[in-house]
Amino acid sequence: MEFWSHDACLLHDTGPGHPERPERLIAVCEALRDAFPDVPWREAPRATRGQLLRVHDASLLATVLDTHSPNRVHVDADTVLSPASAEAALRAAGAAVAATEAVLHGRTQRAFCAVRPPGHHATRDIAMGFCLFDSIAVAAAHACDEGGLERVAIVDFDVHHGNGTQAIFEHDPRVLFLSSHQSPLYPDTGYPEERGDGNIHNAMLRPGAGGDAFRATWRDVLLPELDAFRPQLVLVSAGFDAHWRDPLAQLQLQAEDYAWVTDEIVAIAERHARGRIVSMLEGGYDLDALRESSVAHVAALIAD
Ligand code: ZN
Repeated sequence: MEFWSHDACLLHDTGPGHPERPERLIAVCEALRDAFPDVPWREAPRATRGQLLRVHDASLLATVLDTHSPNRVHVDADTVLSPASAEAALRAAGAAVAATEAVLHGRTQRAFCAVRPPGHHATRDIAMGFCLFDSIAVAAAHACDEGGLERVAIVDFDVHHGNGTQAIFEHDPRVLFLSSHQSPLYPDTGYPEERGDGNIHNAMLRPGAGGDAFRATWRDVLLPELDAFRPQLVLVSAGFDAHWRDPLAQLQLQAEDYAWVTDEIVAIAERHARGRIVSMLEGGYDLDALRESSVAHVAALIAD
């Protein structure tokens, strides 16, 4: 197990009152350091232009990397570019790539990237929903193009639908995308009929749904698809905003539910992927929920 992060991720400044704030990452890193003192921390490199261009248009790179304003700039109502945001976004995507390389090269079997901004809402050409670059998509494309993998699975249990990841890979059969998310909720995508080329599987949970509904959805609908795909690598969009404490959504998960789904993902990764899993922090906006959920998730990643 390795942890990947970079201090630059703390400097992405979304402004006063914004839920996607540096304190989120501080809470996660402190909780992981306390709970897992023996796990090494690695400093994320910057993603390269070539790595980003596998999944993003040059126009989005220009928006994120070439907006040299001394002030915060809103790219949409919720998505902010501050002077330090480009560096944070490069390190977040770079963590995903470097962690994936570490796992593919066999230096470690599992990795968790404690980074921000999150990524799964960013499409090929649009930064949205607090996300600038889709870091997990950058990692998946890297694993296919550079690592030569033919089957990479992305498992997304963030409470929001990973519309960006889905849009990037909906016509790429090398990548399986599985998502559970609350509906109705931002970004109002992720309907079960959205199937891409058969490589997309979405499951919706109603507001108020708790751990029983979440587990049943994964057990009966999504995990069988993951198993049948026989992934060579599993990437996880680990948002913890389906926790009952989260202020932005209305699901009722507890930390144990994240441990449960992680156990199930680990079992399938052990069966097909030599246990290889790279998990990325996505959303999660209550600090206590982030602390206990990230620890439960990582404990299950380590346990196998
Ligand atoms: Zn989310």
